[in-house]
Amino acid sequence: MPDTTPRIGVLGLQGDVPEHFQALEQAGAEPVLVKTAAALESVDGLIVPGGESTTVGMLLERFELMEPLRRRVADGMPLFGTCTGLILMAKEIEGSRQPRIGCMDIAVRRNAYGRQVDSFETELAAPALGEEPVRAVFIRAPQVTRADPGVEILAETEAGPVLVRQGHLLGAAFHPELTPDARIHRLFVRMVKQP
Ligand code: GLN
Repeated sequence: MPDTTPRIGVLGLQGDVPEHFQALEQAGAEPVLVKTAAALESVDGLIVPGGESTTVGMLLERFELMEPLRRRVADGMPLFGTCTGLILMAKEIEGSRQPRIGCMDIAVRRNAYGRQVDSFETELAAPALGEEPVRAVFIRAPQVTRADPGVEILAETEAGPVLVRQGHLLGAAFHPELTPDARIHRLFVRMVKQP
């Protein structure tokens, strides 16, 4: 893609849309709200934000976005999933047959930290993003319980990988849109510019 401003969609069925818009602007992209197949066709990459993965999966099917989205991803469109987005990208969701995009070679366990630690924040080392650690906000987060060869682990905790990349696919178990640090969005913008 030439050095123009990429148009990056944020799936707007549920979840943190304004926060992703802000982070994308900070990272030098033009954010686009995606709620229809026509809007999906118009973007160079897509973010699937946090929410409730059963609801978002069901809405993707109801609005007839699931198949077009799978097709675009299969054709190489970069996709970035945060929390629910990561769950929907996983080929395997432990103990669940819920609708999913199912494009990344990982297994996840939903709500893996239990009720006692519904949400928490931590600092993560992520050498691919630079020396400065990443402040990560986890909210009813999934755990990545398996990452097949070919999946790059960009950051992890003692509970496993939390920031993963497989080619044009990027997934975070946490919410990078909730902190002012836009490095992960910048990485995604780079992936969109040079798929
Ligand atoms: N617990 C949610 C789910 O299973 C994900 C939470 C989130 O996106 N913050 O879909």
